Amino acid sequence: LRAQHGEQVDVEVVAETGSTNADLMARLELLQGPVLRIAEHQTAGRGRAGRVWHSVPGGVLTFSLAWYFPGTSQALLGLPLAIGVAIAECLLALGLPVSLKWPNDILKDKKKLAGVLIETAAARQGGSWAVIGVGLNLSVPDALETHIGHSVADAPWLAQMDRNQLVAQLLNSLAAAMEEFRQQGFAAFADRWNRLHAYAQQEVVILDRGQVVQQGLALGVDAQGCLLLQTAQGTLPVISGDVSLRAA
Ligand code: ATP
Repeated sequence: LRAQHGEQVDVEVVAETGSTNADLMARLELLQGPVLRIAEHQTAGRGRAGRVWHSVPGGVLTFSLAWYFPGTSQALLGLPLAIGVAIAECLLALGLPVSLKWPNDILKDKKKLAGVLIETAAARQGGSWAVIGVGLNLSVPDALETHIGHSVADAPWLAQMDRNQLVAQLLNSLAAAMEEFRQQGFAAFADRWNRLHAYAQQEVVILDRGQVVQQGLALGVDAQGCLLLQTAQGTLPVISGDVSLRAA
């Protein structure tokens, strides 16, 4: 499959696998170029910091895209946010009102519609591979919300759309974003991210392993993708690492 701006991407579709990210991470040495691996169902989906990404057969679109970047993985710190922008802009173009939660979630009605997990590895020839995993809820039962313990959104309207069309649109958006990121880094995305910020000017807390480590007014992100928090001590940039954000 060739993405709109020209990069050729190998596409694989499997009925079921543990995790498309894990599958690609295990094969990076053998990859010749970008690969998109889509699973109809994931049985061991992962989130950040060992968290679980839940799937429902046929109801959650899960895929991973392996992409090569010439720099070190240090240069990829803002990539999860850039991917959020690419996916959100694609969904908005399809008519779905979505917003972004720092650092890596896509929300609908302030509930989690999609998550992004990026894993990186040094490439043998120099540079880095990024494996970009996306889980997008198309149609999930209410029971999933109870099971996870927090609110979840889905998009039945997207579920009715032709699946190949949906994936092709997402891939075009991601491929274009990756090219921009390769050339300009996160700076090309900061304003776009801020326009989609779900918690702009709202009081939030930052959690690290369940503990509140910061509290303040969420101003938006800077050119590196750090969240700018207005606190009693002044404006502080928060680095994403493994921390999570919640409304205060
Ligand atoms: P949080 O969502 O708590 O802010 P996070 O952004 O770091 O954390 P990730 O690690 O990206 O989240 O994703 C894993 C988390 O997403 C799980 O801990 C679970 O709460 C939630 N989750 C898992 N599966 C789904 C799903 N299908 N839809 C919505 N949320 C999910």
